[in-house]
Amino acid sequence: MRLSRYFLPILKENPSEAQIVSHRLMLRTGMIRQEAAGIYAWLPLGLRVLKKIEKIVHEEMQKAGAIEVLMPTLQLADLWRESGRYEDYGQEMLRIKDRHERELLYGPTNEEMITEIFRAYVRSYKSLPLNLYHIQWKFRDEQRPRFGVMRGREFLMKDAYSFDIDEAAARKAYNRMFVAYLNTFSRLGLKAVPMRADTGPIGGDLSHEFIILADTGESAVFCHKDLVDMSAPGDNVDWDDLQAIVDERTALYAATEEMHDEAAFGAVPADKQLSARGIEVGHIFNFGKKYSEPMNAAVNGPDGTQTHVHMGSYGVGVSRLIGGIIEASHDDAGIIWPESVAPFDVALINLRVGDAACDAACEKAYAALEAAGKSVLYDDTDDRPGAKFASMDLIGIPWQLIIGPKGLAEGKVEIKHRKTGERHTAEFDAVLDQLT
Ligand code: ATP
Ligand code: MG
Ligand code: MG
Ligand code: MG
Repeated sequence: MRLSRYFLPILKENPSEAQIVSHRLMLRTGMIRQEAAGIYAWLPLGLRVLKKIEKIVHEEMQKAGAIEVLMPTLQLADLWRESGRYEDYGQEMLRIKDRHERELLYGPTNEEMITEIFRAYVRSYKSLPLNLYHIQWKFRDEQRPRFGVMRGREFLMKDAYSFDIDEAAARKAYNRMFVAYLNTFSRLGLKAVPMRADTGPIGGDLSHEFIILADTGESAVFCHKDLVDMSAPGDNVDWDDLQAIVDERTALYAATEEMHDEAAFGAVPADKQLSARGIEVGHIFNFGKKYSEPMNAAVNGPDGTQTHVHMGSYGVGVSRLIGGIIEASHDDAGIIWPESVAPFDVALINLRVGDAACDAACEKAYAALEAAGKSVLYDDTDDRPGAKFASMDLIGIPWQLIIGPKGLAEGKVEIKHRKTGERHTAEFDAVLDQLT
């Protein structure tokens, strides 16, 4: 992408309405634009990051056996009357009427709808286990939308739903999502800790929130320090038997405020007690028959009798994650994207646009990098070098390739690693080799 042809509305000043760094940087770098309280337009740079996160979430869901669907954002109120949640949900639900006076709502979550789809088609235990998921916009009329995409009213969520014949199978489905979440967050460069959580209006008995630690987090959390640096299980696991992996990560104390038990936390060695603030980036629930019974989602069991299915639901805050990643990875100069979600792989900076040698070298680098499958943001504008450096540091692309007339006279270019700040000068071809 040539910057001169791109749409990257970087703000000169820090926006005054942003209270936390991720919100400030997302506005400043022109990733998002607020259209109404808690409702954002995604501008090109922000959308690239959102898509990268989505891709990783899709890949990890599918490795764990989940199947993608796409449910609508609008739902019939009557569906929610079947589960009893239409009245319960309260003011967070955006209620709408169509021209025929039919009551609709903008979905805050999809348990009812997926249960309705399941019961329409699935008849036999032989079709189980089944896990269906989608990535779709949700709406919750939050009392205090704030912190940008962190607590929006319209936000992008990945939600998966599992269906199983009995409790033991449902537990396995839960474990698969538990491990998929650990792997997902790790690929996003985050240290997310699973914590025992309250099930809230979704209901059920077994639930974990995945929390990343950040001073700006809205929840108070308590955990054993060793959990923070525990590495993700990775792909080389037996998806049918993950209990040991889950046990290892749930044996140590970790709980959110609502579930916090002072006495149990007190039993953690004093130097291992971590009491901090956290951001909820994912939440998984096993809620048994809470929806399948009232909505009559049942299958024929192996013995021929009808049984209501055991269900679970599993959410990831896809748009919230961008805020979370920036909270975890920035410095005074701007964002520092983990390579896996960076909007571009390489920032190519031409220090003297119009100089024949500089232009030719940049074109060559641009073509070579793109041919090698790298995405490049090429600053081909006539801005001052200082302004170019500041902008590229601000938007946080992992590598900067800097080409100027002085170096080029000796066949050299400069390369800068955004994360470490290390820069070095090297032969043009050697640098291209390193980056491709
Ligand atoms: P919170 O406690 O932050 O209000 P929640 O517990 O109500 O979140 P869930 O119903 O568990 O949210 O939804 C699954 C995931 O969706 C959450 O873990 C979070 O990452 C994301 N999420 C929920 N509400 C919002 C929001 N208003 N803006 C952005 N993401 C959200
Ligand atoms: Mg909420
Ligand atoms: Mg919550
Ligand atoms: Mg939650």
